[in-house]
Amino acid sequence: MTASFPVAPGGTLGVLGGGQLGRMLACAAARLGLKTHIYCPDEDRPAGQVAARETVAPYNDETALARFADVVDVVTFEFENVPAAAARFLDARVPVRPAPTALEVTQDRSAEKTFLRDAGIATTPFVTVDESTDLAVAVAALGGRTVLKTRRWGYDGKGQALALTPAEAAAAWAAIDHQPAIAEAFVDFSCEVSVIVARAADGTTACYDGVRNVHEGHILARSIVPAGLPPDTETAARAIAETIARRLDYVGVLAVEMFVVSGPEPGLLVNEIAPRVHNSGHWTLDACAVSQFEQHVRAVCGWPLGSPLRYANAVMENLLGSAVADWAALAAQPNTAVHIYGKHAVKSGRKMGHATRLFPLDTRVDGQI
Ligand code: AMP
Repeated sequence: MTASFPVAPGGTLGVLGGGQLGRMLACAAARLGLKTHIYCPDEDRPAGQVAARETVAPYNDETALARFADVVDVVTFEFENVPAAAARFLDARVPVRPAPTALEVTQDRSAEKTFLRDAGIATTPFVTVDESTDLAVAVAALGGRTVLKTRRWGYDGKGQALALTPAEAAAAWAAIDHQPAIAEAFVDFSCEVSVIVARAADGTTACYDGVRNVHEGHILARSIVPAGLPPDTETAARAIAETIARRLDYVGVLAVEMFVVSGPEPGLLVNEIAPRVHNSGHWTLDACAVSQFEQHVRAVCGWPLGSPLRYANAVMENLLGSAVADWAALAAQPNTAVHIYGKHAVKSGRKMGHATRLFPLDTRVDGQI
């Protein structure tokens, strides 16, 4: 299809990936009068259930990819492990936003952290690990307590192992099957925060308020906004997110996860960049006029960005595994929006839905729903 921006109502957004993020993107696109065509290797996923069209085919099926490119106006992705080769193949036929480079940088933890370092952004101290690395020496240089993370395919704590001393390093690497990895200094952070930023093709940005994230068993349990950061830390967190978006020449919504460290060298260390809408931005669906999902659709379709203004304080809680069974009780709670993703199999730790409780702007929020 010949690219023409902005993509007007009636046009079609193509999305690679079929999970809950694609589902919420499709709902946001529908609100703007746009159709969504999901491309995903599996049937009956959350996004396909609500989209106008769906292609079920592997990411390396060039015939299916070419057909998909023919019927959509622009392509985006809802998870960062979409093969970059598929995004490149499509990009030769139809605009892909954000550009496939964002996938290439963020799919590899070593490339991602090197990019951050080159951009002058503080990140967790790290060493790239392969067969030639003297692991005990690397771990000692990082201060002893180290997290080994596979360079690729890690998420929610998968592909990670802890070494408390240089002597434990070999066993930690064996625990992740000697895959290419990075060794990262273990950070005694005071809290984890994230910032969601949108960037349009003309370079304008819109940044949502910083969010405090609480992980349990490496999985995001809840996000709290406002984050309660000192104003200069909040400003610094936003500046980091905006710099990353600019340096990637990014179009769309991007999330940056950071550790807040106190002590002798207080500041922010970037842990991870997600080149997509993000779980820690789900509260924007209910507390803002323009959610992260609509903002992403606007950016990739060439619409003006909306205001990221927040109209309420919020606590977003993920409904993991069997917690989704509480949907009726949650729906009966005051000022609570319930979102269920349409997944059939309930598995421990699986993100089945989320609930966001809203509070007036002058209320202190630091807790549970
Ligand atoms: P990741 O897969 O890198 O997002 O890590 C998942 C979670 O593990 C993070 O949100 C942190 O809670 C924890 N974590 C990751 N890296 C480190 C680190 N270098 N030091 C301390 N905790 C970490």
